[in-house]
Amino acid sequence: MDSLLRIAIQKSGRLQEGSLQLLKDCGLSISNGRDQLKSQARNFPVEVLFLRDDDIPQYVEDRVADVGVVGENVWVEKQRNNSLVRRLDFAKCRLSIAVPRGETYTGTNWLKGKNIATSYPTIVRHFLQKQGVEAGIHEISGSVEIAPGIGLADAVCDIVSTGSTLMSNGLKEVETVMNSEAVLIGSPDLEESKNYILEKLLFRIEAVQSARNNKYILLNCPNESIPKIQSIIPGMNSPTIMPLGKPGWSSLHSVVNENDFWEKIDLLKSLGAQGILVVPIEKMIA
Ligand code: ATP
Ligand code: ZN
Repeated sequence: MDSLLRIAIQKSGRLQEGSLQLLKDCGLSISNGRDQLKSQARNFPVEVLFLRDDDIPQYVEDRVADVGVVGENVWVEKQRNNSLVRRLDFAKCRLSIAVPRGETYTGTNWLKGKNIATSYPTIVRHFLQKQGVEAGIHEISGSVEIAPGIGLADAVCDIVSTGSTLMSNGLKEVETVMNSEAVLIGSPDLEESKNYILEKLLFRIEAVQSARNNKYILLNCPNESIPKIQSIIPGMNSPTIMPLGKPGWSSLHSVVNENDFWEKIDLLKSLGAQGILVVPIEKMIA
């Protein structure tokens, strides 16, 4: 039988949609029916296993799956024998310590002798050790943010993205313990045939991620601005420049990064650029 790469993704929750979308953008055709445990891609040698995210590092260690998509926080917490294959640039959040809003927090010393409720005991233990602070850790599996309110703990360590959940529970964020995003983890000793499939998939992931971070830009400009504009938006190699029907003017096509996009647009306008079009890129291969 030909080799299949088994990829574990979250069955339901915050990572599921992003994981499936990434695989789809990589051209994999996957059906995910309700209550389905696994699904084989129709056009790529991959089988997707739908599992509880907390179990994925263990399943990868046990080689039930070859690779898996989990939050970095879960990967670090579980301390399994997995390697981080690639950061995936979605499900960004942080693991933070929060205390009741009314407390005067003076630094990690405040935590001394206190009780911290968390679903991430290993990460919190390491954090406290590094800070040289002794505190109790109370492990709970869900609704951590209510622990101080019901007298179960003095502080929490939990996932934060906007902070609104903390706020509505009367808590304030005081320390960032780690930043997290979705990551692809894998078994450190994949056999050659599976590694070959993984390499093909990683090539596609890179193309998808580059495309997501960049836009294709088209604009018209007076010829004398071309050198400056070219230095602002050099693109992947160098921009395409074509003469316009209007004498002394050209059309310039390039690629611009999402991060500094708006500043660049302002600069381009000040250099006389007109008719600026910005369009999404489907895939990008350097
Ligand atoms: P359960 O396993 O009980 O379903 P969970 O907290 O492990 O709960 P999710 O809430 O689906 O599962 O979160 C999965 C992962 O998504 C987390 O481990 C974290 O990496 C990431 N995540 C969680 N909350 C957010 C958020 N608000 N914004 C972005 N990413 C988040
Ligand atoms: Zn989970």
